[in-house]
Amino acid sequence: MSVSNRQIVAYWVEHEVELVIDWSTAHERCWRCGYRSSLKQCPVVPASMGGTGAADNLVLLCGRCVGEAPSHQDPQYLWRWLRATSSSANETYWTLRGWEEFEVIFGRKPLECFKEAPVDHRSLDAECRALAADEFAKTVVHFGEGRLNPSTIACVIAEIEKKLADRHGIELP
Ligand SMILES: [Zn+2]
Repeated sequence: MSVSNRQIVAYWVEHEVELVIDWSTAHERCWRCGYRSSLKQCPVVPASMGGTGAADNLVLLCGRCVGEAPSHQDPQYLWRWLRATSSSANETYWTLRGWEEFEVIFGRKPLECFKEAPVDHRSLDAECRALAADEFAKTVVHFGEGRLNPSTIACVIAEIEKKLADRHGIELP
Protein backbone atom coordinates (compact mmCIF):
# COMPACT_ATOMS: atom_id res chain seq x y z
CA MET A 1 0.00 0.00 0.00
CA SER A 2 1.47 3.35 -0.95
CA VAL A 3 0.91 6.69 0.75
CA SER A 4 0.49 10.08 -0.89
CA ASN A 5 2.69 13.09 -0.22
CA ARG A 6 -0.23 14.79 1.51
CA GLN A 7 -0.66 11.81 3.84
CA ILE A 8 3.01 12.04 4.79
CA VAL A 9 2.67 15.76 5.54
CA ALA A 10 -0.54 15.13 7.52
CA TYR A 11 1.26 12.54 9.63
CA TRP A 12 4.21 14.79 10.51
CA VAL A 13 2.06 17.86 11.17
CA GLU A 14 0.52 15.78 13.98
CA HIS A 15 3.92 14.65 15.28
CA GLU A 16 6.12 17.55 16.31
CA VAL A 17 9.48 17.23 14.54
CA GLU A 18 10.90 20.74 15.07
CA LEU A 19 11.50 21.50 11.42
CA VAL A 20 11.57 25.08 10.13
CA ILE A 21 9.41 24.30 7.12
CA ASP A 22 6.03 25.74 6.13
CA TRP A 23 3.66 22.77 6.44
CA SER A 24 1.08 24.35 4.14
CA THR A 25 3.43 23.86 1.15
CA ALA A 26 5.27 20.78 2.48
CA HIS A 27 3.54 18.46 -0.03
CA GLU A 28 5.16 20.34 -2.94
CA ARG A 29 8.38 21.85 -1.56
CA CYS A 30 11.47 19.92 -0.48
CA TRP A 31 11.66 19.75 3.32
CA ARG A 32 15.37 20.41 3.21
CA CYS A 33 16.13 23.03 0.53
CA GLY A 34 12.62 24.48 0.24
CA TYR A 35 12.57 24.30 -3.58
CA ARG A 36 9.37 23.50 -5.43
CA SER A 37 10.32 20.31 -7.17
CA SER A 38 9.11 16.82 -7.94
CA LEU A 39 9.50 15.24 -4.51
CA LYS A 40 10.69 11.79 -3.62
CA GLN A 41 9.42 9.86 -0.60
CA CYS A 42 12.67 9.32 1.26
CA PRO A 43 12.74 6.66 3.99
CA VAL A 44 13.98 7.75 7.43
CA VAL A 45 15.22 4.20 8.00
CA PRO A 46 16.20 2.54 4.68
CA ALA A 47 14.02 -0.38 3.53
CA SER A 48 17.03 -2.71 3.53
CA MET A 49 17.42 -2.00 7.25
CA GLY A 50 13.83 -2.69 8.17
CA GLY A 51 12.29 0.69 7.37
CA THR A 52 8.67 0.54 6.19
CA GLY A 53 6.86 2.41 3.42
CA ALA A 54 4.41 3.96 5.91
CA ALA A 55 4.08 7.71 6.50
CA ASP A 56 5.86 7.47 9.86
CA ASN A 57 9.04 6.39 8.04
CA LEU A 58 8.92 8.83 5.11
CA VAL A 59 9.95 12.44 4.49
CA LEU A 60 9.64 14.46 1.26
CA LEU A 61 12.85 15.58 -0.41
CA CYS A 62 13.92 16.66 -3.89
CA GLY A 63 16.30 14.41 -5.82
CA ARG A 64 19.37 16.45 -4.93
CA CYS A 65 18.62 16.39 -1.21
CA VAL A 66 17.83 12.64 -1.27
CA GLY A 67 21.34 12.20 -2.66
CA GLU A 68 22.81 14.05 0.33
CA ALA A 69 20.59 12.56 3.05
CA PRO A 70 22.06 10.15 5.61
CA SER A 71 21.12 6.54 4.99
CA HIS A 72 21.54 4.91 8.40
CA GLN A 73 19.63 2.39 10.47
CA ASP A 74 19.30 4.86 13.35
CA PRO A 75 16.51 7.35 12.47
CA GLN A 76 17.97 10.08 14.70
CA TYR A 77 20.61 10.93 12.08
CA LEU A 78 18.22 11.82 9.31
CA TRP A 79 16.27 14.07 11.66
CA ARG A 80 19.41 15.71 13.02
CA TRP A 81 20.64 16.34 9.46
CA LEU A 82 17.29 17.76 8.39
CA ARG A 83 17.10 20.11 11.40
CA ALA A 84 20.70 21.24 10.99
CA THR A 85 20.68 21.86 7.23
CA SER A 86 17.12 22.70 6.22
CA SER A 87 16.45 26.19 4.93
CA SER A 88 13.48 28.30 6.02
CA ALA A 89 13.85 30.59 2.98
CA ASN A 90 12.34 29.27 -0.23
CA GLU A 91 14.47 28.99 -3.36
CA THR A 92 17.75 30.40 -2.01
CA TYR A 93 19.38 27.31 -0.52
CA TRP A 94 21.18 26.08 -3.64
CA THR A 95 22.29 29.59 -4.62
CA LEU A 96 24.01 29.90 -1.24
CA ARG A 97 25.56 26.46 -1.70
CA GLY A 98 26.81 27.62 -5.12
CA TRP A 99 28.27 30.73 -3.49
CA GLU A 100 30.22 28.49 -1.05
CA GLU A 101 31.30 26.23 -3.89
CA PHE A 102 32.65 29.26 -5.79
CA GLU A 103 34.94 30.00 -2.82
CA VAL A 104 36.16 26.39 -2.82
CA ILE A 105 36.83 26.39 -6.58
CA PHE A 106 38.29 29.90 -7.00
CA GLY A 107 39.80 30.44 -3.55
CA ARG A 108 38.10 33.80 -3.06
CA LYS A 109 34.64 35.22 -2.48
CA PRO A 110 32.65 36.07 -5.61
CA LEU A 111 32.45 39.77 -6.57
CA GLU A 112 35.02 40.72 -3.94
CA CYS A 113 37.08 42.65 -6.49
CA PHE A 114 34.18 45.08 -7.00
CA LYS A 115 34.27 46.25 -3.39
CA GLU A 116 37.05 48.77 -3.93
CA ALA A 117 36.12 49.56 -7.53
CA PRO A 118 34.91 53.05 -8.47
CA VAL A 119 31.42 51.96 -9.51
CA ASP A 120 27.99 52.78 -8.14
CA HIS A 121 27.24 49.80 -5.93
CA ARG A 122 23.50 50.18 -6.05
CA SER A 123 23.43 49.96 -9.84
CA LEU A 124 25.98 47.13 -9.67
CA ASP A 125 23.52 45.22 -7.50
CA ALA A 126 20.77 45.71 -10.05
CA GLU A 127 23.07 44.71 -12.93
CA CYS A 128 24.09 41.63 -11.02
CA ARG A 129 20.48 40.58 -10.48
CA ALA A 130 19.60 41.16 -14.13
CA LEU A 131 22.60 39.14 -15.31
CA ALA A 132 21.76 36.38 -12.81
CA ALA A 133 18.24 36.09 -14.19
CA ASP A 134 19.66 35.76 -17.73
CA GLU A 135 22.33 33.26 -16.77
CA PHE A 136 20.06 31.07 -14.66
CA ALA A 137 17.42 31.10 -17.39
CA LYS A 138 20.03 29.71 -19.81
CA THR A 139 21.00 26.94 -17.40
CA VAL A 140 17.40 26.02 -16.69
CA VAL A 141 16.79 25.60 -20.42
CA HIS A 142 19.77 23.27 -20.63
CA PHE A 143 19.43 21.21 -17.51
CA GLY A 144 15.79 21.38 -16.46
CA GLU A 145 14.39 23.14 -13.45
CA GLY A 146 15.64 22.09 -10.06
CA ARG A 147 18.70 20.23 -11.23
CA LEU A 148 21.50 22.74 -10.80
CA ASN A 149 24.07 21.50 -8.34
CA PRO A 150 26.35 23.83 -6.34
CA SER A 151 29.30 23.54 -8.74
CA THR A 152 27.12 24.49 -11.74
CA ILE A 153 25.75 27.44 -9.80
CA ALA A 154 29.36 28.45 -9.01
CA CYS A 155 30.05 28.47 -12.79
CA VAL A 156 27.03 30.70 -13.34
CA ILE A 157 28.31 33.10 -10.66
CA ALA A 158 31.73 33.10 -12.37
CA GLU A 159 30.08 34.01 -15.71
CA ILE A 160 28.13 36.86 -14.11
CA GLU A 161 31.30 38.15 -12.48
CA LYS A 162 33.18 38.02 -15.78
CA LYS A 163 30.49 40.00 -17.62
CA LEU A 164 30.36 42.63 -14.88
CA ALA A 165 34.16 42.94 -14.87
CA ASP A 166 34.23 43.38 -18.68
CA ARG A 167 31.52 46.00 -18.55
CA HIS A 168 33.26 48.07 -15.89
CA GLY A 169 36.85 47.50 -16.99
CA ILE A 170 37.82 45.68 -13.82
CA GLU A 171 40.51 43.03 -13.82
CA LEU A 172 39.61 39.78 -12.08
CA PRO A 173 42.22 38.06 -9.92
ZN1 LIG B 1 15.91 19.67 -1.75
